[in-house]
Amino acid sequence: MQKWTTLILLFLLFTGSYNAKAQGGAGRHMEEAPPYQPPKEVKRSGFRQILSKVNVGISTGYGQTMYRQDLSGYSVFKKGDTQFLVPAGSITAGRVNRSYTNWLNAPQDRSDVIPMETDLILAGDTTQFNLSGRGQSLPLNLDFHINLADRFKIGAGLTAEIHSIKDLEYNQWGNLLGTYSSDVRSAFLLRYYGMFGVRFTRWYFWDFTADARIGKKNYMSQFDKSLLSDGLYYNFGCLIEHHYSEYFRLTLRPSVEWSAYNMELPASGESVTTQTPAFFFQAGISLNYPRLPRCPINACHAQLEHVHQGKEFRGQPIYRWQNPKYGQNDPELMRNKKRSKDDTQQRLQYKKKRRRGFFSWW
Ligand SMILES: [Zn+2]
Repeated sequence: MQKWTTLILLFLLFTGSYNAKAQGGAGRHMEEAPPYQPPKEVKRSGFRQILSKVNVGISTGYGQTMYRQDLSGYSVFKKGDTQFLVPAGSITAGRVNRSYTNWLNAPQDRSDVIPMETDLILAGDTTQFNLSGRGQSLPLNLDFHINLADRFKIGAGLTAEIHSIKDLEYNQWGNLLGTYSSDVRSAFLLRYYGMFGVRFTRWYFWDFTADARIGKKNYMSQFDKSLLSDGLYYNFGCLIEHHYSEYFRLTLRPSVEWSAYNMELPASGESVTTQTPAFFFQAGISLNYPRLPRCPINACHAQLEHVHQGKEFRGQPIYRWQNPKYGQNDPELMRNKKRSKDDTQQRLQYKKKRRRGFFSWW
């Protein structure tokens, strides 16, 4: 009997302090220690504890890549509809010794092709002859990161990207050469990257993190990998996360990127560099594996994290706060939802509360 009295007293104390806290808190509650502290002897799965710290993100979006090749010193000749790139010094006594087609993504030595007198041979400017255009990409991204000190993110990811290149334009001789058409209609590439981010501001349930993703592209199709060499790519973005609960977030990420690749022109010892700066806009979700399993008892309506027979459970789905404050998961009071009786007084009270900011997080 005494045991029960103690329990009830403890419960009253606990709910009392809990509500008092909830009344005062208008901001984020995520960082606060949960009001419920389970007894020490409760068993916890260490694996779940570790796994719950890993944020898993899935996102997709749209990207545009600029292509810019510096062809200063090169010449281009056109035979029919095909354009041939001629390295500097490959024309002797009016004869073309060496030329390439498809030099953007898979150069082919076409030194067998000899221009006729009717074919155009145009020498580009030695300092500013270039080719530029755009491509589009659809990325699908998977990333993992952990949060350190509630401010820093460190992680890694993988992106699969479908990618196309539109026609490129010459800055010179465009009227005679027309545009350069690559054969890349849809290429597939994979990216692997490491990431590091710093949260610079937090506004209610929104987190804003400046992050850098540095990695390597792997051209899976259309690009001749035996001739291609590239360094790392550098992607800088702003990760915007909207927290719906401890375990569920929607994410938005605009970003800009710097990268380039070198395409070797076989047998000439020369190579053409293509600058490929890009921008992306991606949206997705971010999840954590929940720290506790969901309570399996149907009849149990506990909302907070709680204990059955020495095991801890959560009472909420992962997209809801696990230890919700007063009104946090159901901002509208039940009695206000049902307008069966005259509740003018209650509604007035409710409005007053809102004005004081008690529900301003909603
Ligand atoms: Zn339960």
